[in-house]
Amino acid sequence: MSKSHGPAFRKELKPLMECGTCRGKGVICGVFHQLDCTACHGSGWVCQLTGDALPLEDLVPQLNMKLRNLAAELNRARHSQRGAQEQYEQNNRRGAGGSNYTGD
Ligand SMILES: [Zn+2]
Repeated sequence: MSKSHGPAFRKELKPLMECGTCRGKGVICGVFHQLDCTACHGSGWVCQLTGDALPLEDLVPQLNMKLRNLAAELNRARHSQRGAQEQYEQNNRRGAGGSNYTGD
C-alpha cells in the first residue's frame, strides 16, 4: 500500500474528440494500403483537452464507457420511437374503425 501513483479509485469519462489526423477513422491511407493511425492508436479518438492519444489502458475503458452511453441513448430513442409509433397506429385504427366493416 505504499504506491502513491496507483490508478484512480473510479474511472471517469474523459472528453474525447475525433482524431484530426485520421478524421476518426483510425487508419490513414498510405500509398499502397491503410496504416493504423499512430496519433490515436488506431482508435479514432484523442483526448479533447490535450489532443493526444490516451494510453491504451485508459483508452479502452473510455471507449467502453462511451459505447455504453451511446447504446443506452440509442435504446432510449428506440423505445420512445416505438411508443410514438404505437400511439400513431392506435389513433389510426380508431379513426378508420367501423367504416370498412364487411360483416353482414
Ligand atoms: Zn487517428
